[in-house]
Amino acid sequence: MIATVVLAAWTSAQSPLPVVRVEPSVVPDGSPVLVVVCAPGRIEGRFENQPLRFRGDTQASTAALDRPRQTALAAIPYAAKPGPREVVVRITHAGQTQIHHAPFTVVSGNYPTSIVVTPPRSKATLIAAGAEPHRKNAPPLPRAEPGSFSRALASNTKARLWRGRFLRPVITTVTEPYGTSRLNIRGRRKWRSTHLALDLDGQGGEPVLASNGGVVVAAGHYPGSGNTVIIDHGDRLLSLHFHNDRLHVKRGDRVKRGTAIADVGATGRVTGPHLHLEIRLNGHRVSPESLIDLIPPEK
Ligand SMILES: [Zn+2]
Repeated sequence: MIATVVLAAWTSAQSPLPVVRVEPSVVPDGSPVLVVVCAPGRIEGRFENQPLRFRGDTQASTAALDRPRQTALAAIPYAAKPGPREVVVRITHAGQTQIHHAPFTVVSGNYPTSIVVTPPRSKATLIAAGAEPHRKNAPPLPRAEPGSFSRALASNTKARLWRGRFLRPVITTVTEPYGTSRLNIRGRRKWRSTHLALDLDGQGGEPVLASNGGVVVAAGHYPGSGNTVIIDHGDRLLSLHFHNDRLHVKRGDRVKRGTAIADVGATGRVTGPHLHLEIRLNGHRVSPESLIDLIPPEK
């Protein structure tokens, strides 16, 4: 598809011309993209059914080449069909409006497959039933208030609370990457599932760090995810941390990049200690590693 640029009477007084691009220009399904607009003014846009929330400089600089930069995140859903896409943005400045189309290409993530065999009445079954044999230090947390998990997922802070690069919350090996299609077998039962999260290994007790700034919107015990922390980074970007041991934050706490929010544990439905990290952007679970790779460090 060819980019169409409508220049509606963009006068020489407003030079230089705006730049609109999608980073990266070739993106696997299940990844976030950054829409970058270098232009002054108010910027609105959509990608499919996702509104784009632009943040950054809105003012024209006196130096013509030092253009203000505004960015917005969008999610390419898991299993989105490969092919050309475009983001449409509307730039309003000095009483004039321009529409820009920024093209990019979605490719297949080629995600792995795995077979997970769990014997009947395994440790995972016992843990699911509440035995939680890995918990050594932390006293059991009471079960979180019903409905609090889905309320946390729906939180919608209309501000960007993150800045610069996202951290990996635990520096350790990946035990299961994002996007793995699993064939689960327990006894005679077989079912398929997709792991739309990143599993990071742990012995138990290592600190789990906040990937970036945000506000804690859930911190408590849930039957499947165990001791859970959900951080709202603003503008419909959330990070979810499952199976922790102790939690070091409570709902309403503000966190910065690197704040210790919990210790790695094995609570909830698990077979051993690890961190299950999910990133939800505009309601879509996207690859945590792609988000970490997407945002450059702050200058
Ligand atoms: Zn996981």
